[in-house]
Amino acid sequence: GRGSTTIFKVSKDQAQRNAQQLYEQERATQKSHIHMIVIGHVDAGKSTLMGHLLYDTGNVSQRVMHKHEQESKKLGKQSFMYAWVLDETGEERARGITMDVGQSRIETKTKIVTLLDAPGHKDFIPNMISGATQADVALLVVDATRGEFESGFELGGQTREHAILVRSLGVNQLGVVINKLDTVGWSKERFQEIVHKLKSFLKQAGFKESDVSFTPCSGLTGENLTKAAQEPALKAWYEGPNLLEVIEHFKVPERAIDRPLRMSVSDIYKGTGSGFCISGRIETGALCVNDKVLVGASREQAQVKSLSMDELTQTSVFAGDQVSVTLAGIDVNNITVGCIICDPQMPIPVTTRFQCRIIVFNVKVPITMGYPVLLHHQSLIEPAVVCKLTASIHKSTGEVVKKKPRCLGQNSCALVEVETSRPICIERYSDFKELGRIMLRVAGVTIAAGMVTKIR
Ligand code: GDP
Repeated sequence: GRGSTTIFKVSKDQAQRNAQQLYEQERATQKSHIHMIVIGHVDAGKSTLMGHLLYDTGNVSQRVMHKHEQESKKLGKQSFMYAWVLDETGEERARGITMDVGQSRIETKTKIVTLLDAPGHKDFIPNMISGATQADVALLVVDATRGEFESGFELGGQTREHAILVRSLGVNQLGVVINKLDTVGWSKERFQEIVHKLKSFLKQAGFKESDVSFTPCSGLTGENLTKAAQEPALKAWYEGPNLLEVIEHFKVPERAIDRPLRMSVSDIYKGTGSGFCISGRIETGALCVNDKVLVGASREQAQVKSLSMDELTQTSVFAGDQVSVTLAGIDVNNITVGCIICDPQMPIPVTTRFQCRIIVFNVKVPITMGYPVLLHHQSLIEPAVVCKLTASIHKSTGEVVKKKPRCLGQNSCALVEVETSRPICIERYSDFKELGRIMLRVAGVTIAAGMVTKIR
């Protein structure tokens, strides 16, 4: 098929220059950064919508778009030309050939929006969960086509599940996109009918009315994406914001740069000269050369010898940056992938037991006391057990349904305690949202996700 396409392939040098440019641009413009996840039922038009939005905001070159157009025409699948923008990115990313420059970022007047796990066509759902654990805001895409909205919403579709999932991971701002409105002649009545149904559901699911917006769109025709309504039938009754404006108006989360340092380590390797290198993401705070830091659960102290980003030397790095750090003063054996580097003045809690509020997905066997899982927390993957079922709670309202339930089945919501055999670094969601979200997996399947509520 499109395997031979090399349009996104750029040289490593070029990729580095691009990354550096983006980085400097971001610093220079002082734009705030948010992470956005796109959710919704399969075929709601998520990929098409985001591909079109990326194109209209200048994040996909005309040359690339032209290529997709030609290829999709050739195969008689022109309606997929925008969706392919995201597919291609996903493939390239999977093959690790290029840095994914541009394709998954939208720049608005005041913001840089990173799309989390851009909805590639196939594996969107499993990816969605890990993406959702990093999301600040979400776009919920629903298909306005008669019958389609209903099957996504009413008949066990994913619309409800996704909305509940992101809410239970702490996402509180939601932009609902009432998509494919071209299929119903831009009907105001249809729009209102869907808004009405979603409103009461979302309220129940714990979203505040003021934090939810509803935007009529067509990802395919591009209507109301980045410009005011053009289509006469829509213009006749809609004067609200377009999708880009909705994104522009999302409230920015607290600037993570102003918080104490937390860096999660995703790789460890021998550096040049003395010391060794770690790489990972600065979750919060900043890190400068010569800083003293505490490493992992052992809380050993180390000193930062040098810093780099995309192989360019830096004197300081900030929250959101993917960095390499050369450390000295610590034995390489005392640092592990998944551990957290933190500020010695404001260290991260270390524990073997914590309470979390989880939502349970597909479990073959209901979760009972002592259930073994793999705890995923940032880059950390650690064997753990669900050691206490504190209460099952109502999925939407959060009210306690039953104290000390004997088991937790599919699609339930609960407060549980998780215990690891080795001490780990973790935060409460209310203190550090970046480090207070977890996933529980069994045999490669995510069975639950949630947020940390108490640390023992
Ligand atoms: P996803 O599974 O949510 O990512 O959905 P896709 O973007 O792959 O779209 C699913 C199907 O709906 C494709 O055939 C698209 O061409 C079609 N589609 C997407 N957006 C629109 C739209 O706004 N209007 C119409 N009529 N069709 C659309």
